[in-house]
Amino acid sequence: CVVVAQDFDFFYFVQSWPGSYCDTRRGCCFPSTGKPRADFGIHGLWPNYNDGLYPSSCDSDSLFDPSVLSDLKGELQKNWPTLACPSGDGNAFWGHEWNKHGTCSESRLEQHGYFAAALNLKRKVDLLRILTNSGIKPDGRFYSLNRIRNAIREATGFTPGIECNVDGDGNSQLYQIYICIDKNGSDFIRCPVLPRQRCKSTVEFPYFGKITTTDNG
Ligand code: 5GP
Ligand code: 5GP
Ligand code: 5GP
Repeated sequence: CVVVAQDFDFFYFVQSWPGSYCDTRRGCCFPSTGKPRADFGIHGLWPNYNDGLYPSSCDSDSLFDPSVLSDLKGELQKNWPTLACPSGDGNAFWGHEWNKHGTCSESRLEQHGYFAAALNLKRKVDLLRILTNSGIKPDGRFYSLNRIRNAIREATGFTPGIECNVDGDGNSQLYQIYICIDKNGSDFIRCPVLPRQRCKSTVEFPYFGKITTTDNG
């Protein structure tokens, strides 16, 4: 008999705030290519089912091949930086994301298309601009979770998922934002299911290097 893999239903496009990855007790290591910009970075584009479950590591025969991404390398380093320790050039992180998540959307996107789709989505949803335009800045202050969620809903048309983690002092902070995307990897959709969030009602938006504002004199 033939076993046909169940197709997935939608993607989560997940972006991380680097300040919140780095200020945990575990810390972080900047990529070998240098400190990332103070911007949200891509974590991944994750196939998901409508019931909240998700497939993973779907094709061990599909090896991650950095050579097919050579034209995207600069954009990947800029928008999909690796912050895990020890420092790397990004290939280990991108390869992990391809093996765990990308191989589960091969019915729609091959390797180059998968990474190009994530980069295009990052261009479509500028989270830092959306938040700063609403007065929510990475200045180490605390902001209402509802205010963060509403700013993104007003800008994108849909309610995002918001995930928090905890800094070295035990504060709940804005860590990752989940935007739901159609199976083609191109359009925002209403989330069929939101990921569990571990946020307090007020969360820290930590600093990550220089903030470019017009009122910092
Ligand atoms: P954590 O346990 O830190 O929440 O998640 C660890 C990893 O599991 C994530 O980086 C991601 O690879 C995967 N993961 C966690 N939650 C989800 C989810 O709701 N959907 C999908 N597709 N993957 C998830
Ligand atoms: P996920 O949480 O997506 O399953 O796993 C992320 C994996 O990629 C972890 O094994 C982690 O060590 C590695 N990794 C490399 N760079 C990063 C990074 O910048 N952020 C995160 N979350 N994981 C990274
Ligand atoms: P990975 O090593 O599976 O499977 O990572 C497990 C979890 O730890 C992931 O949620 C990832 O975000 C986090 N993580 C992995 N490496 C680092 C690190 O170097 N620093 C920090 N702060 N978190 C990490």
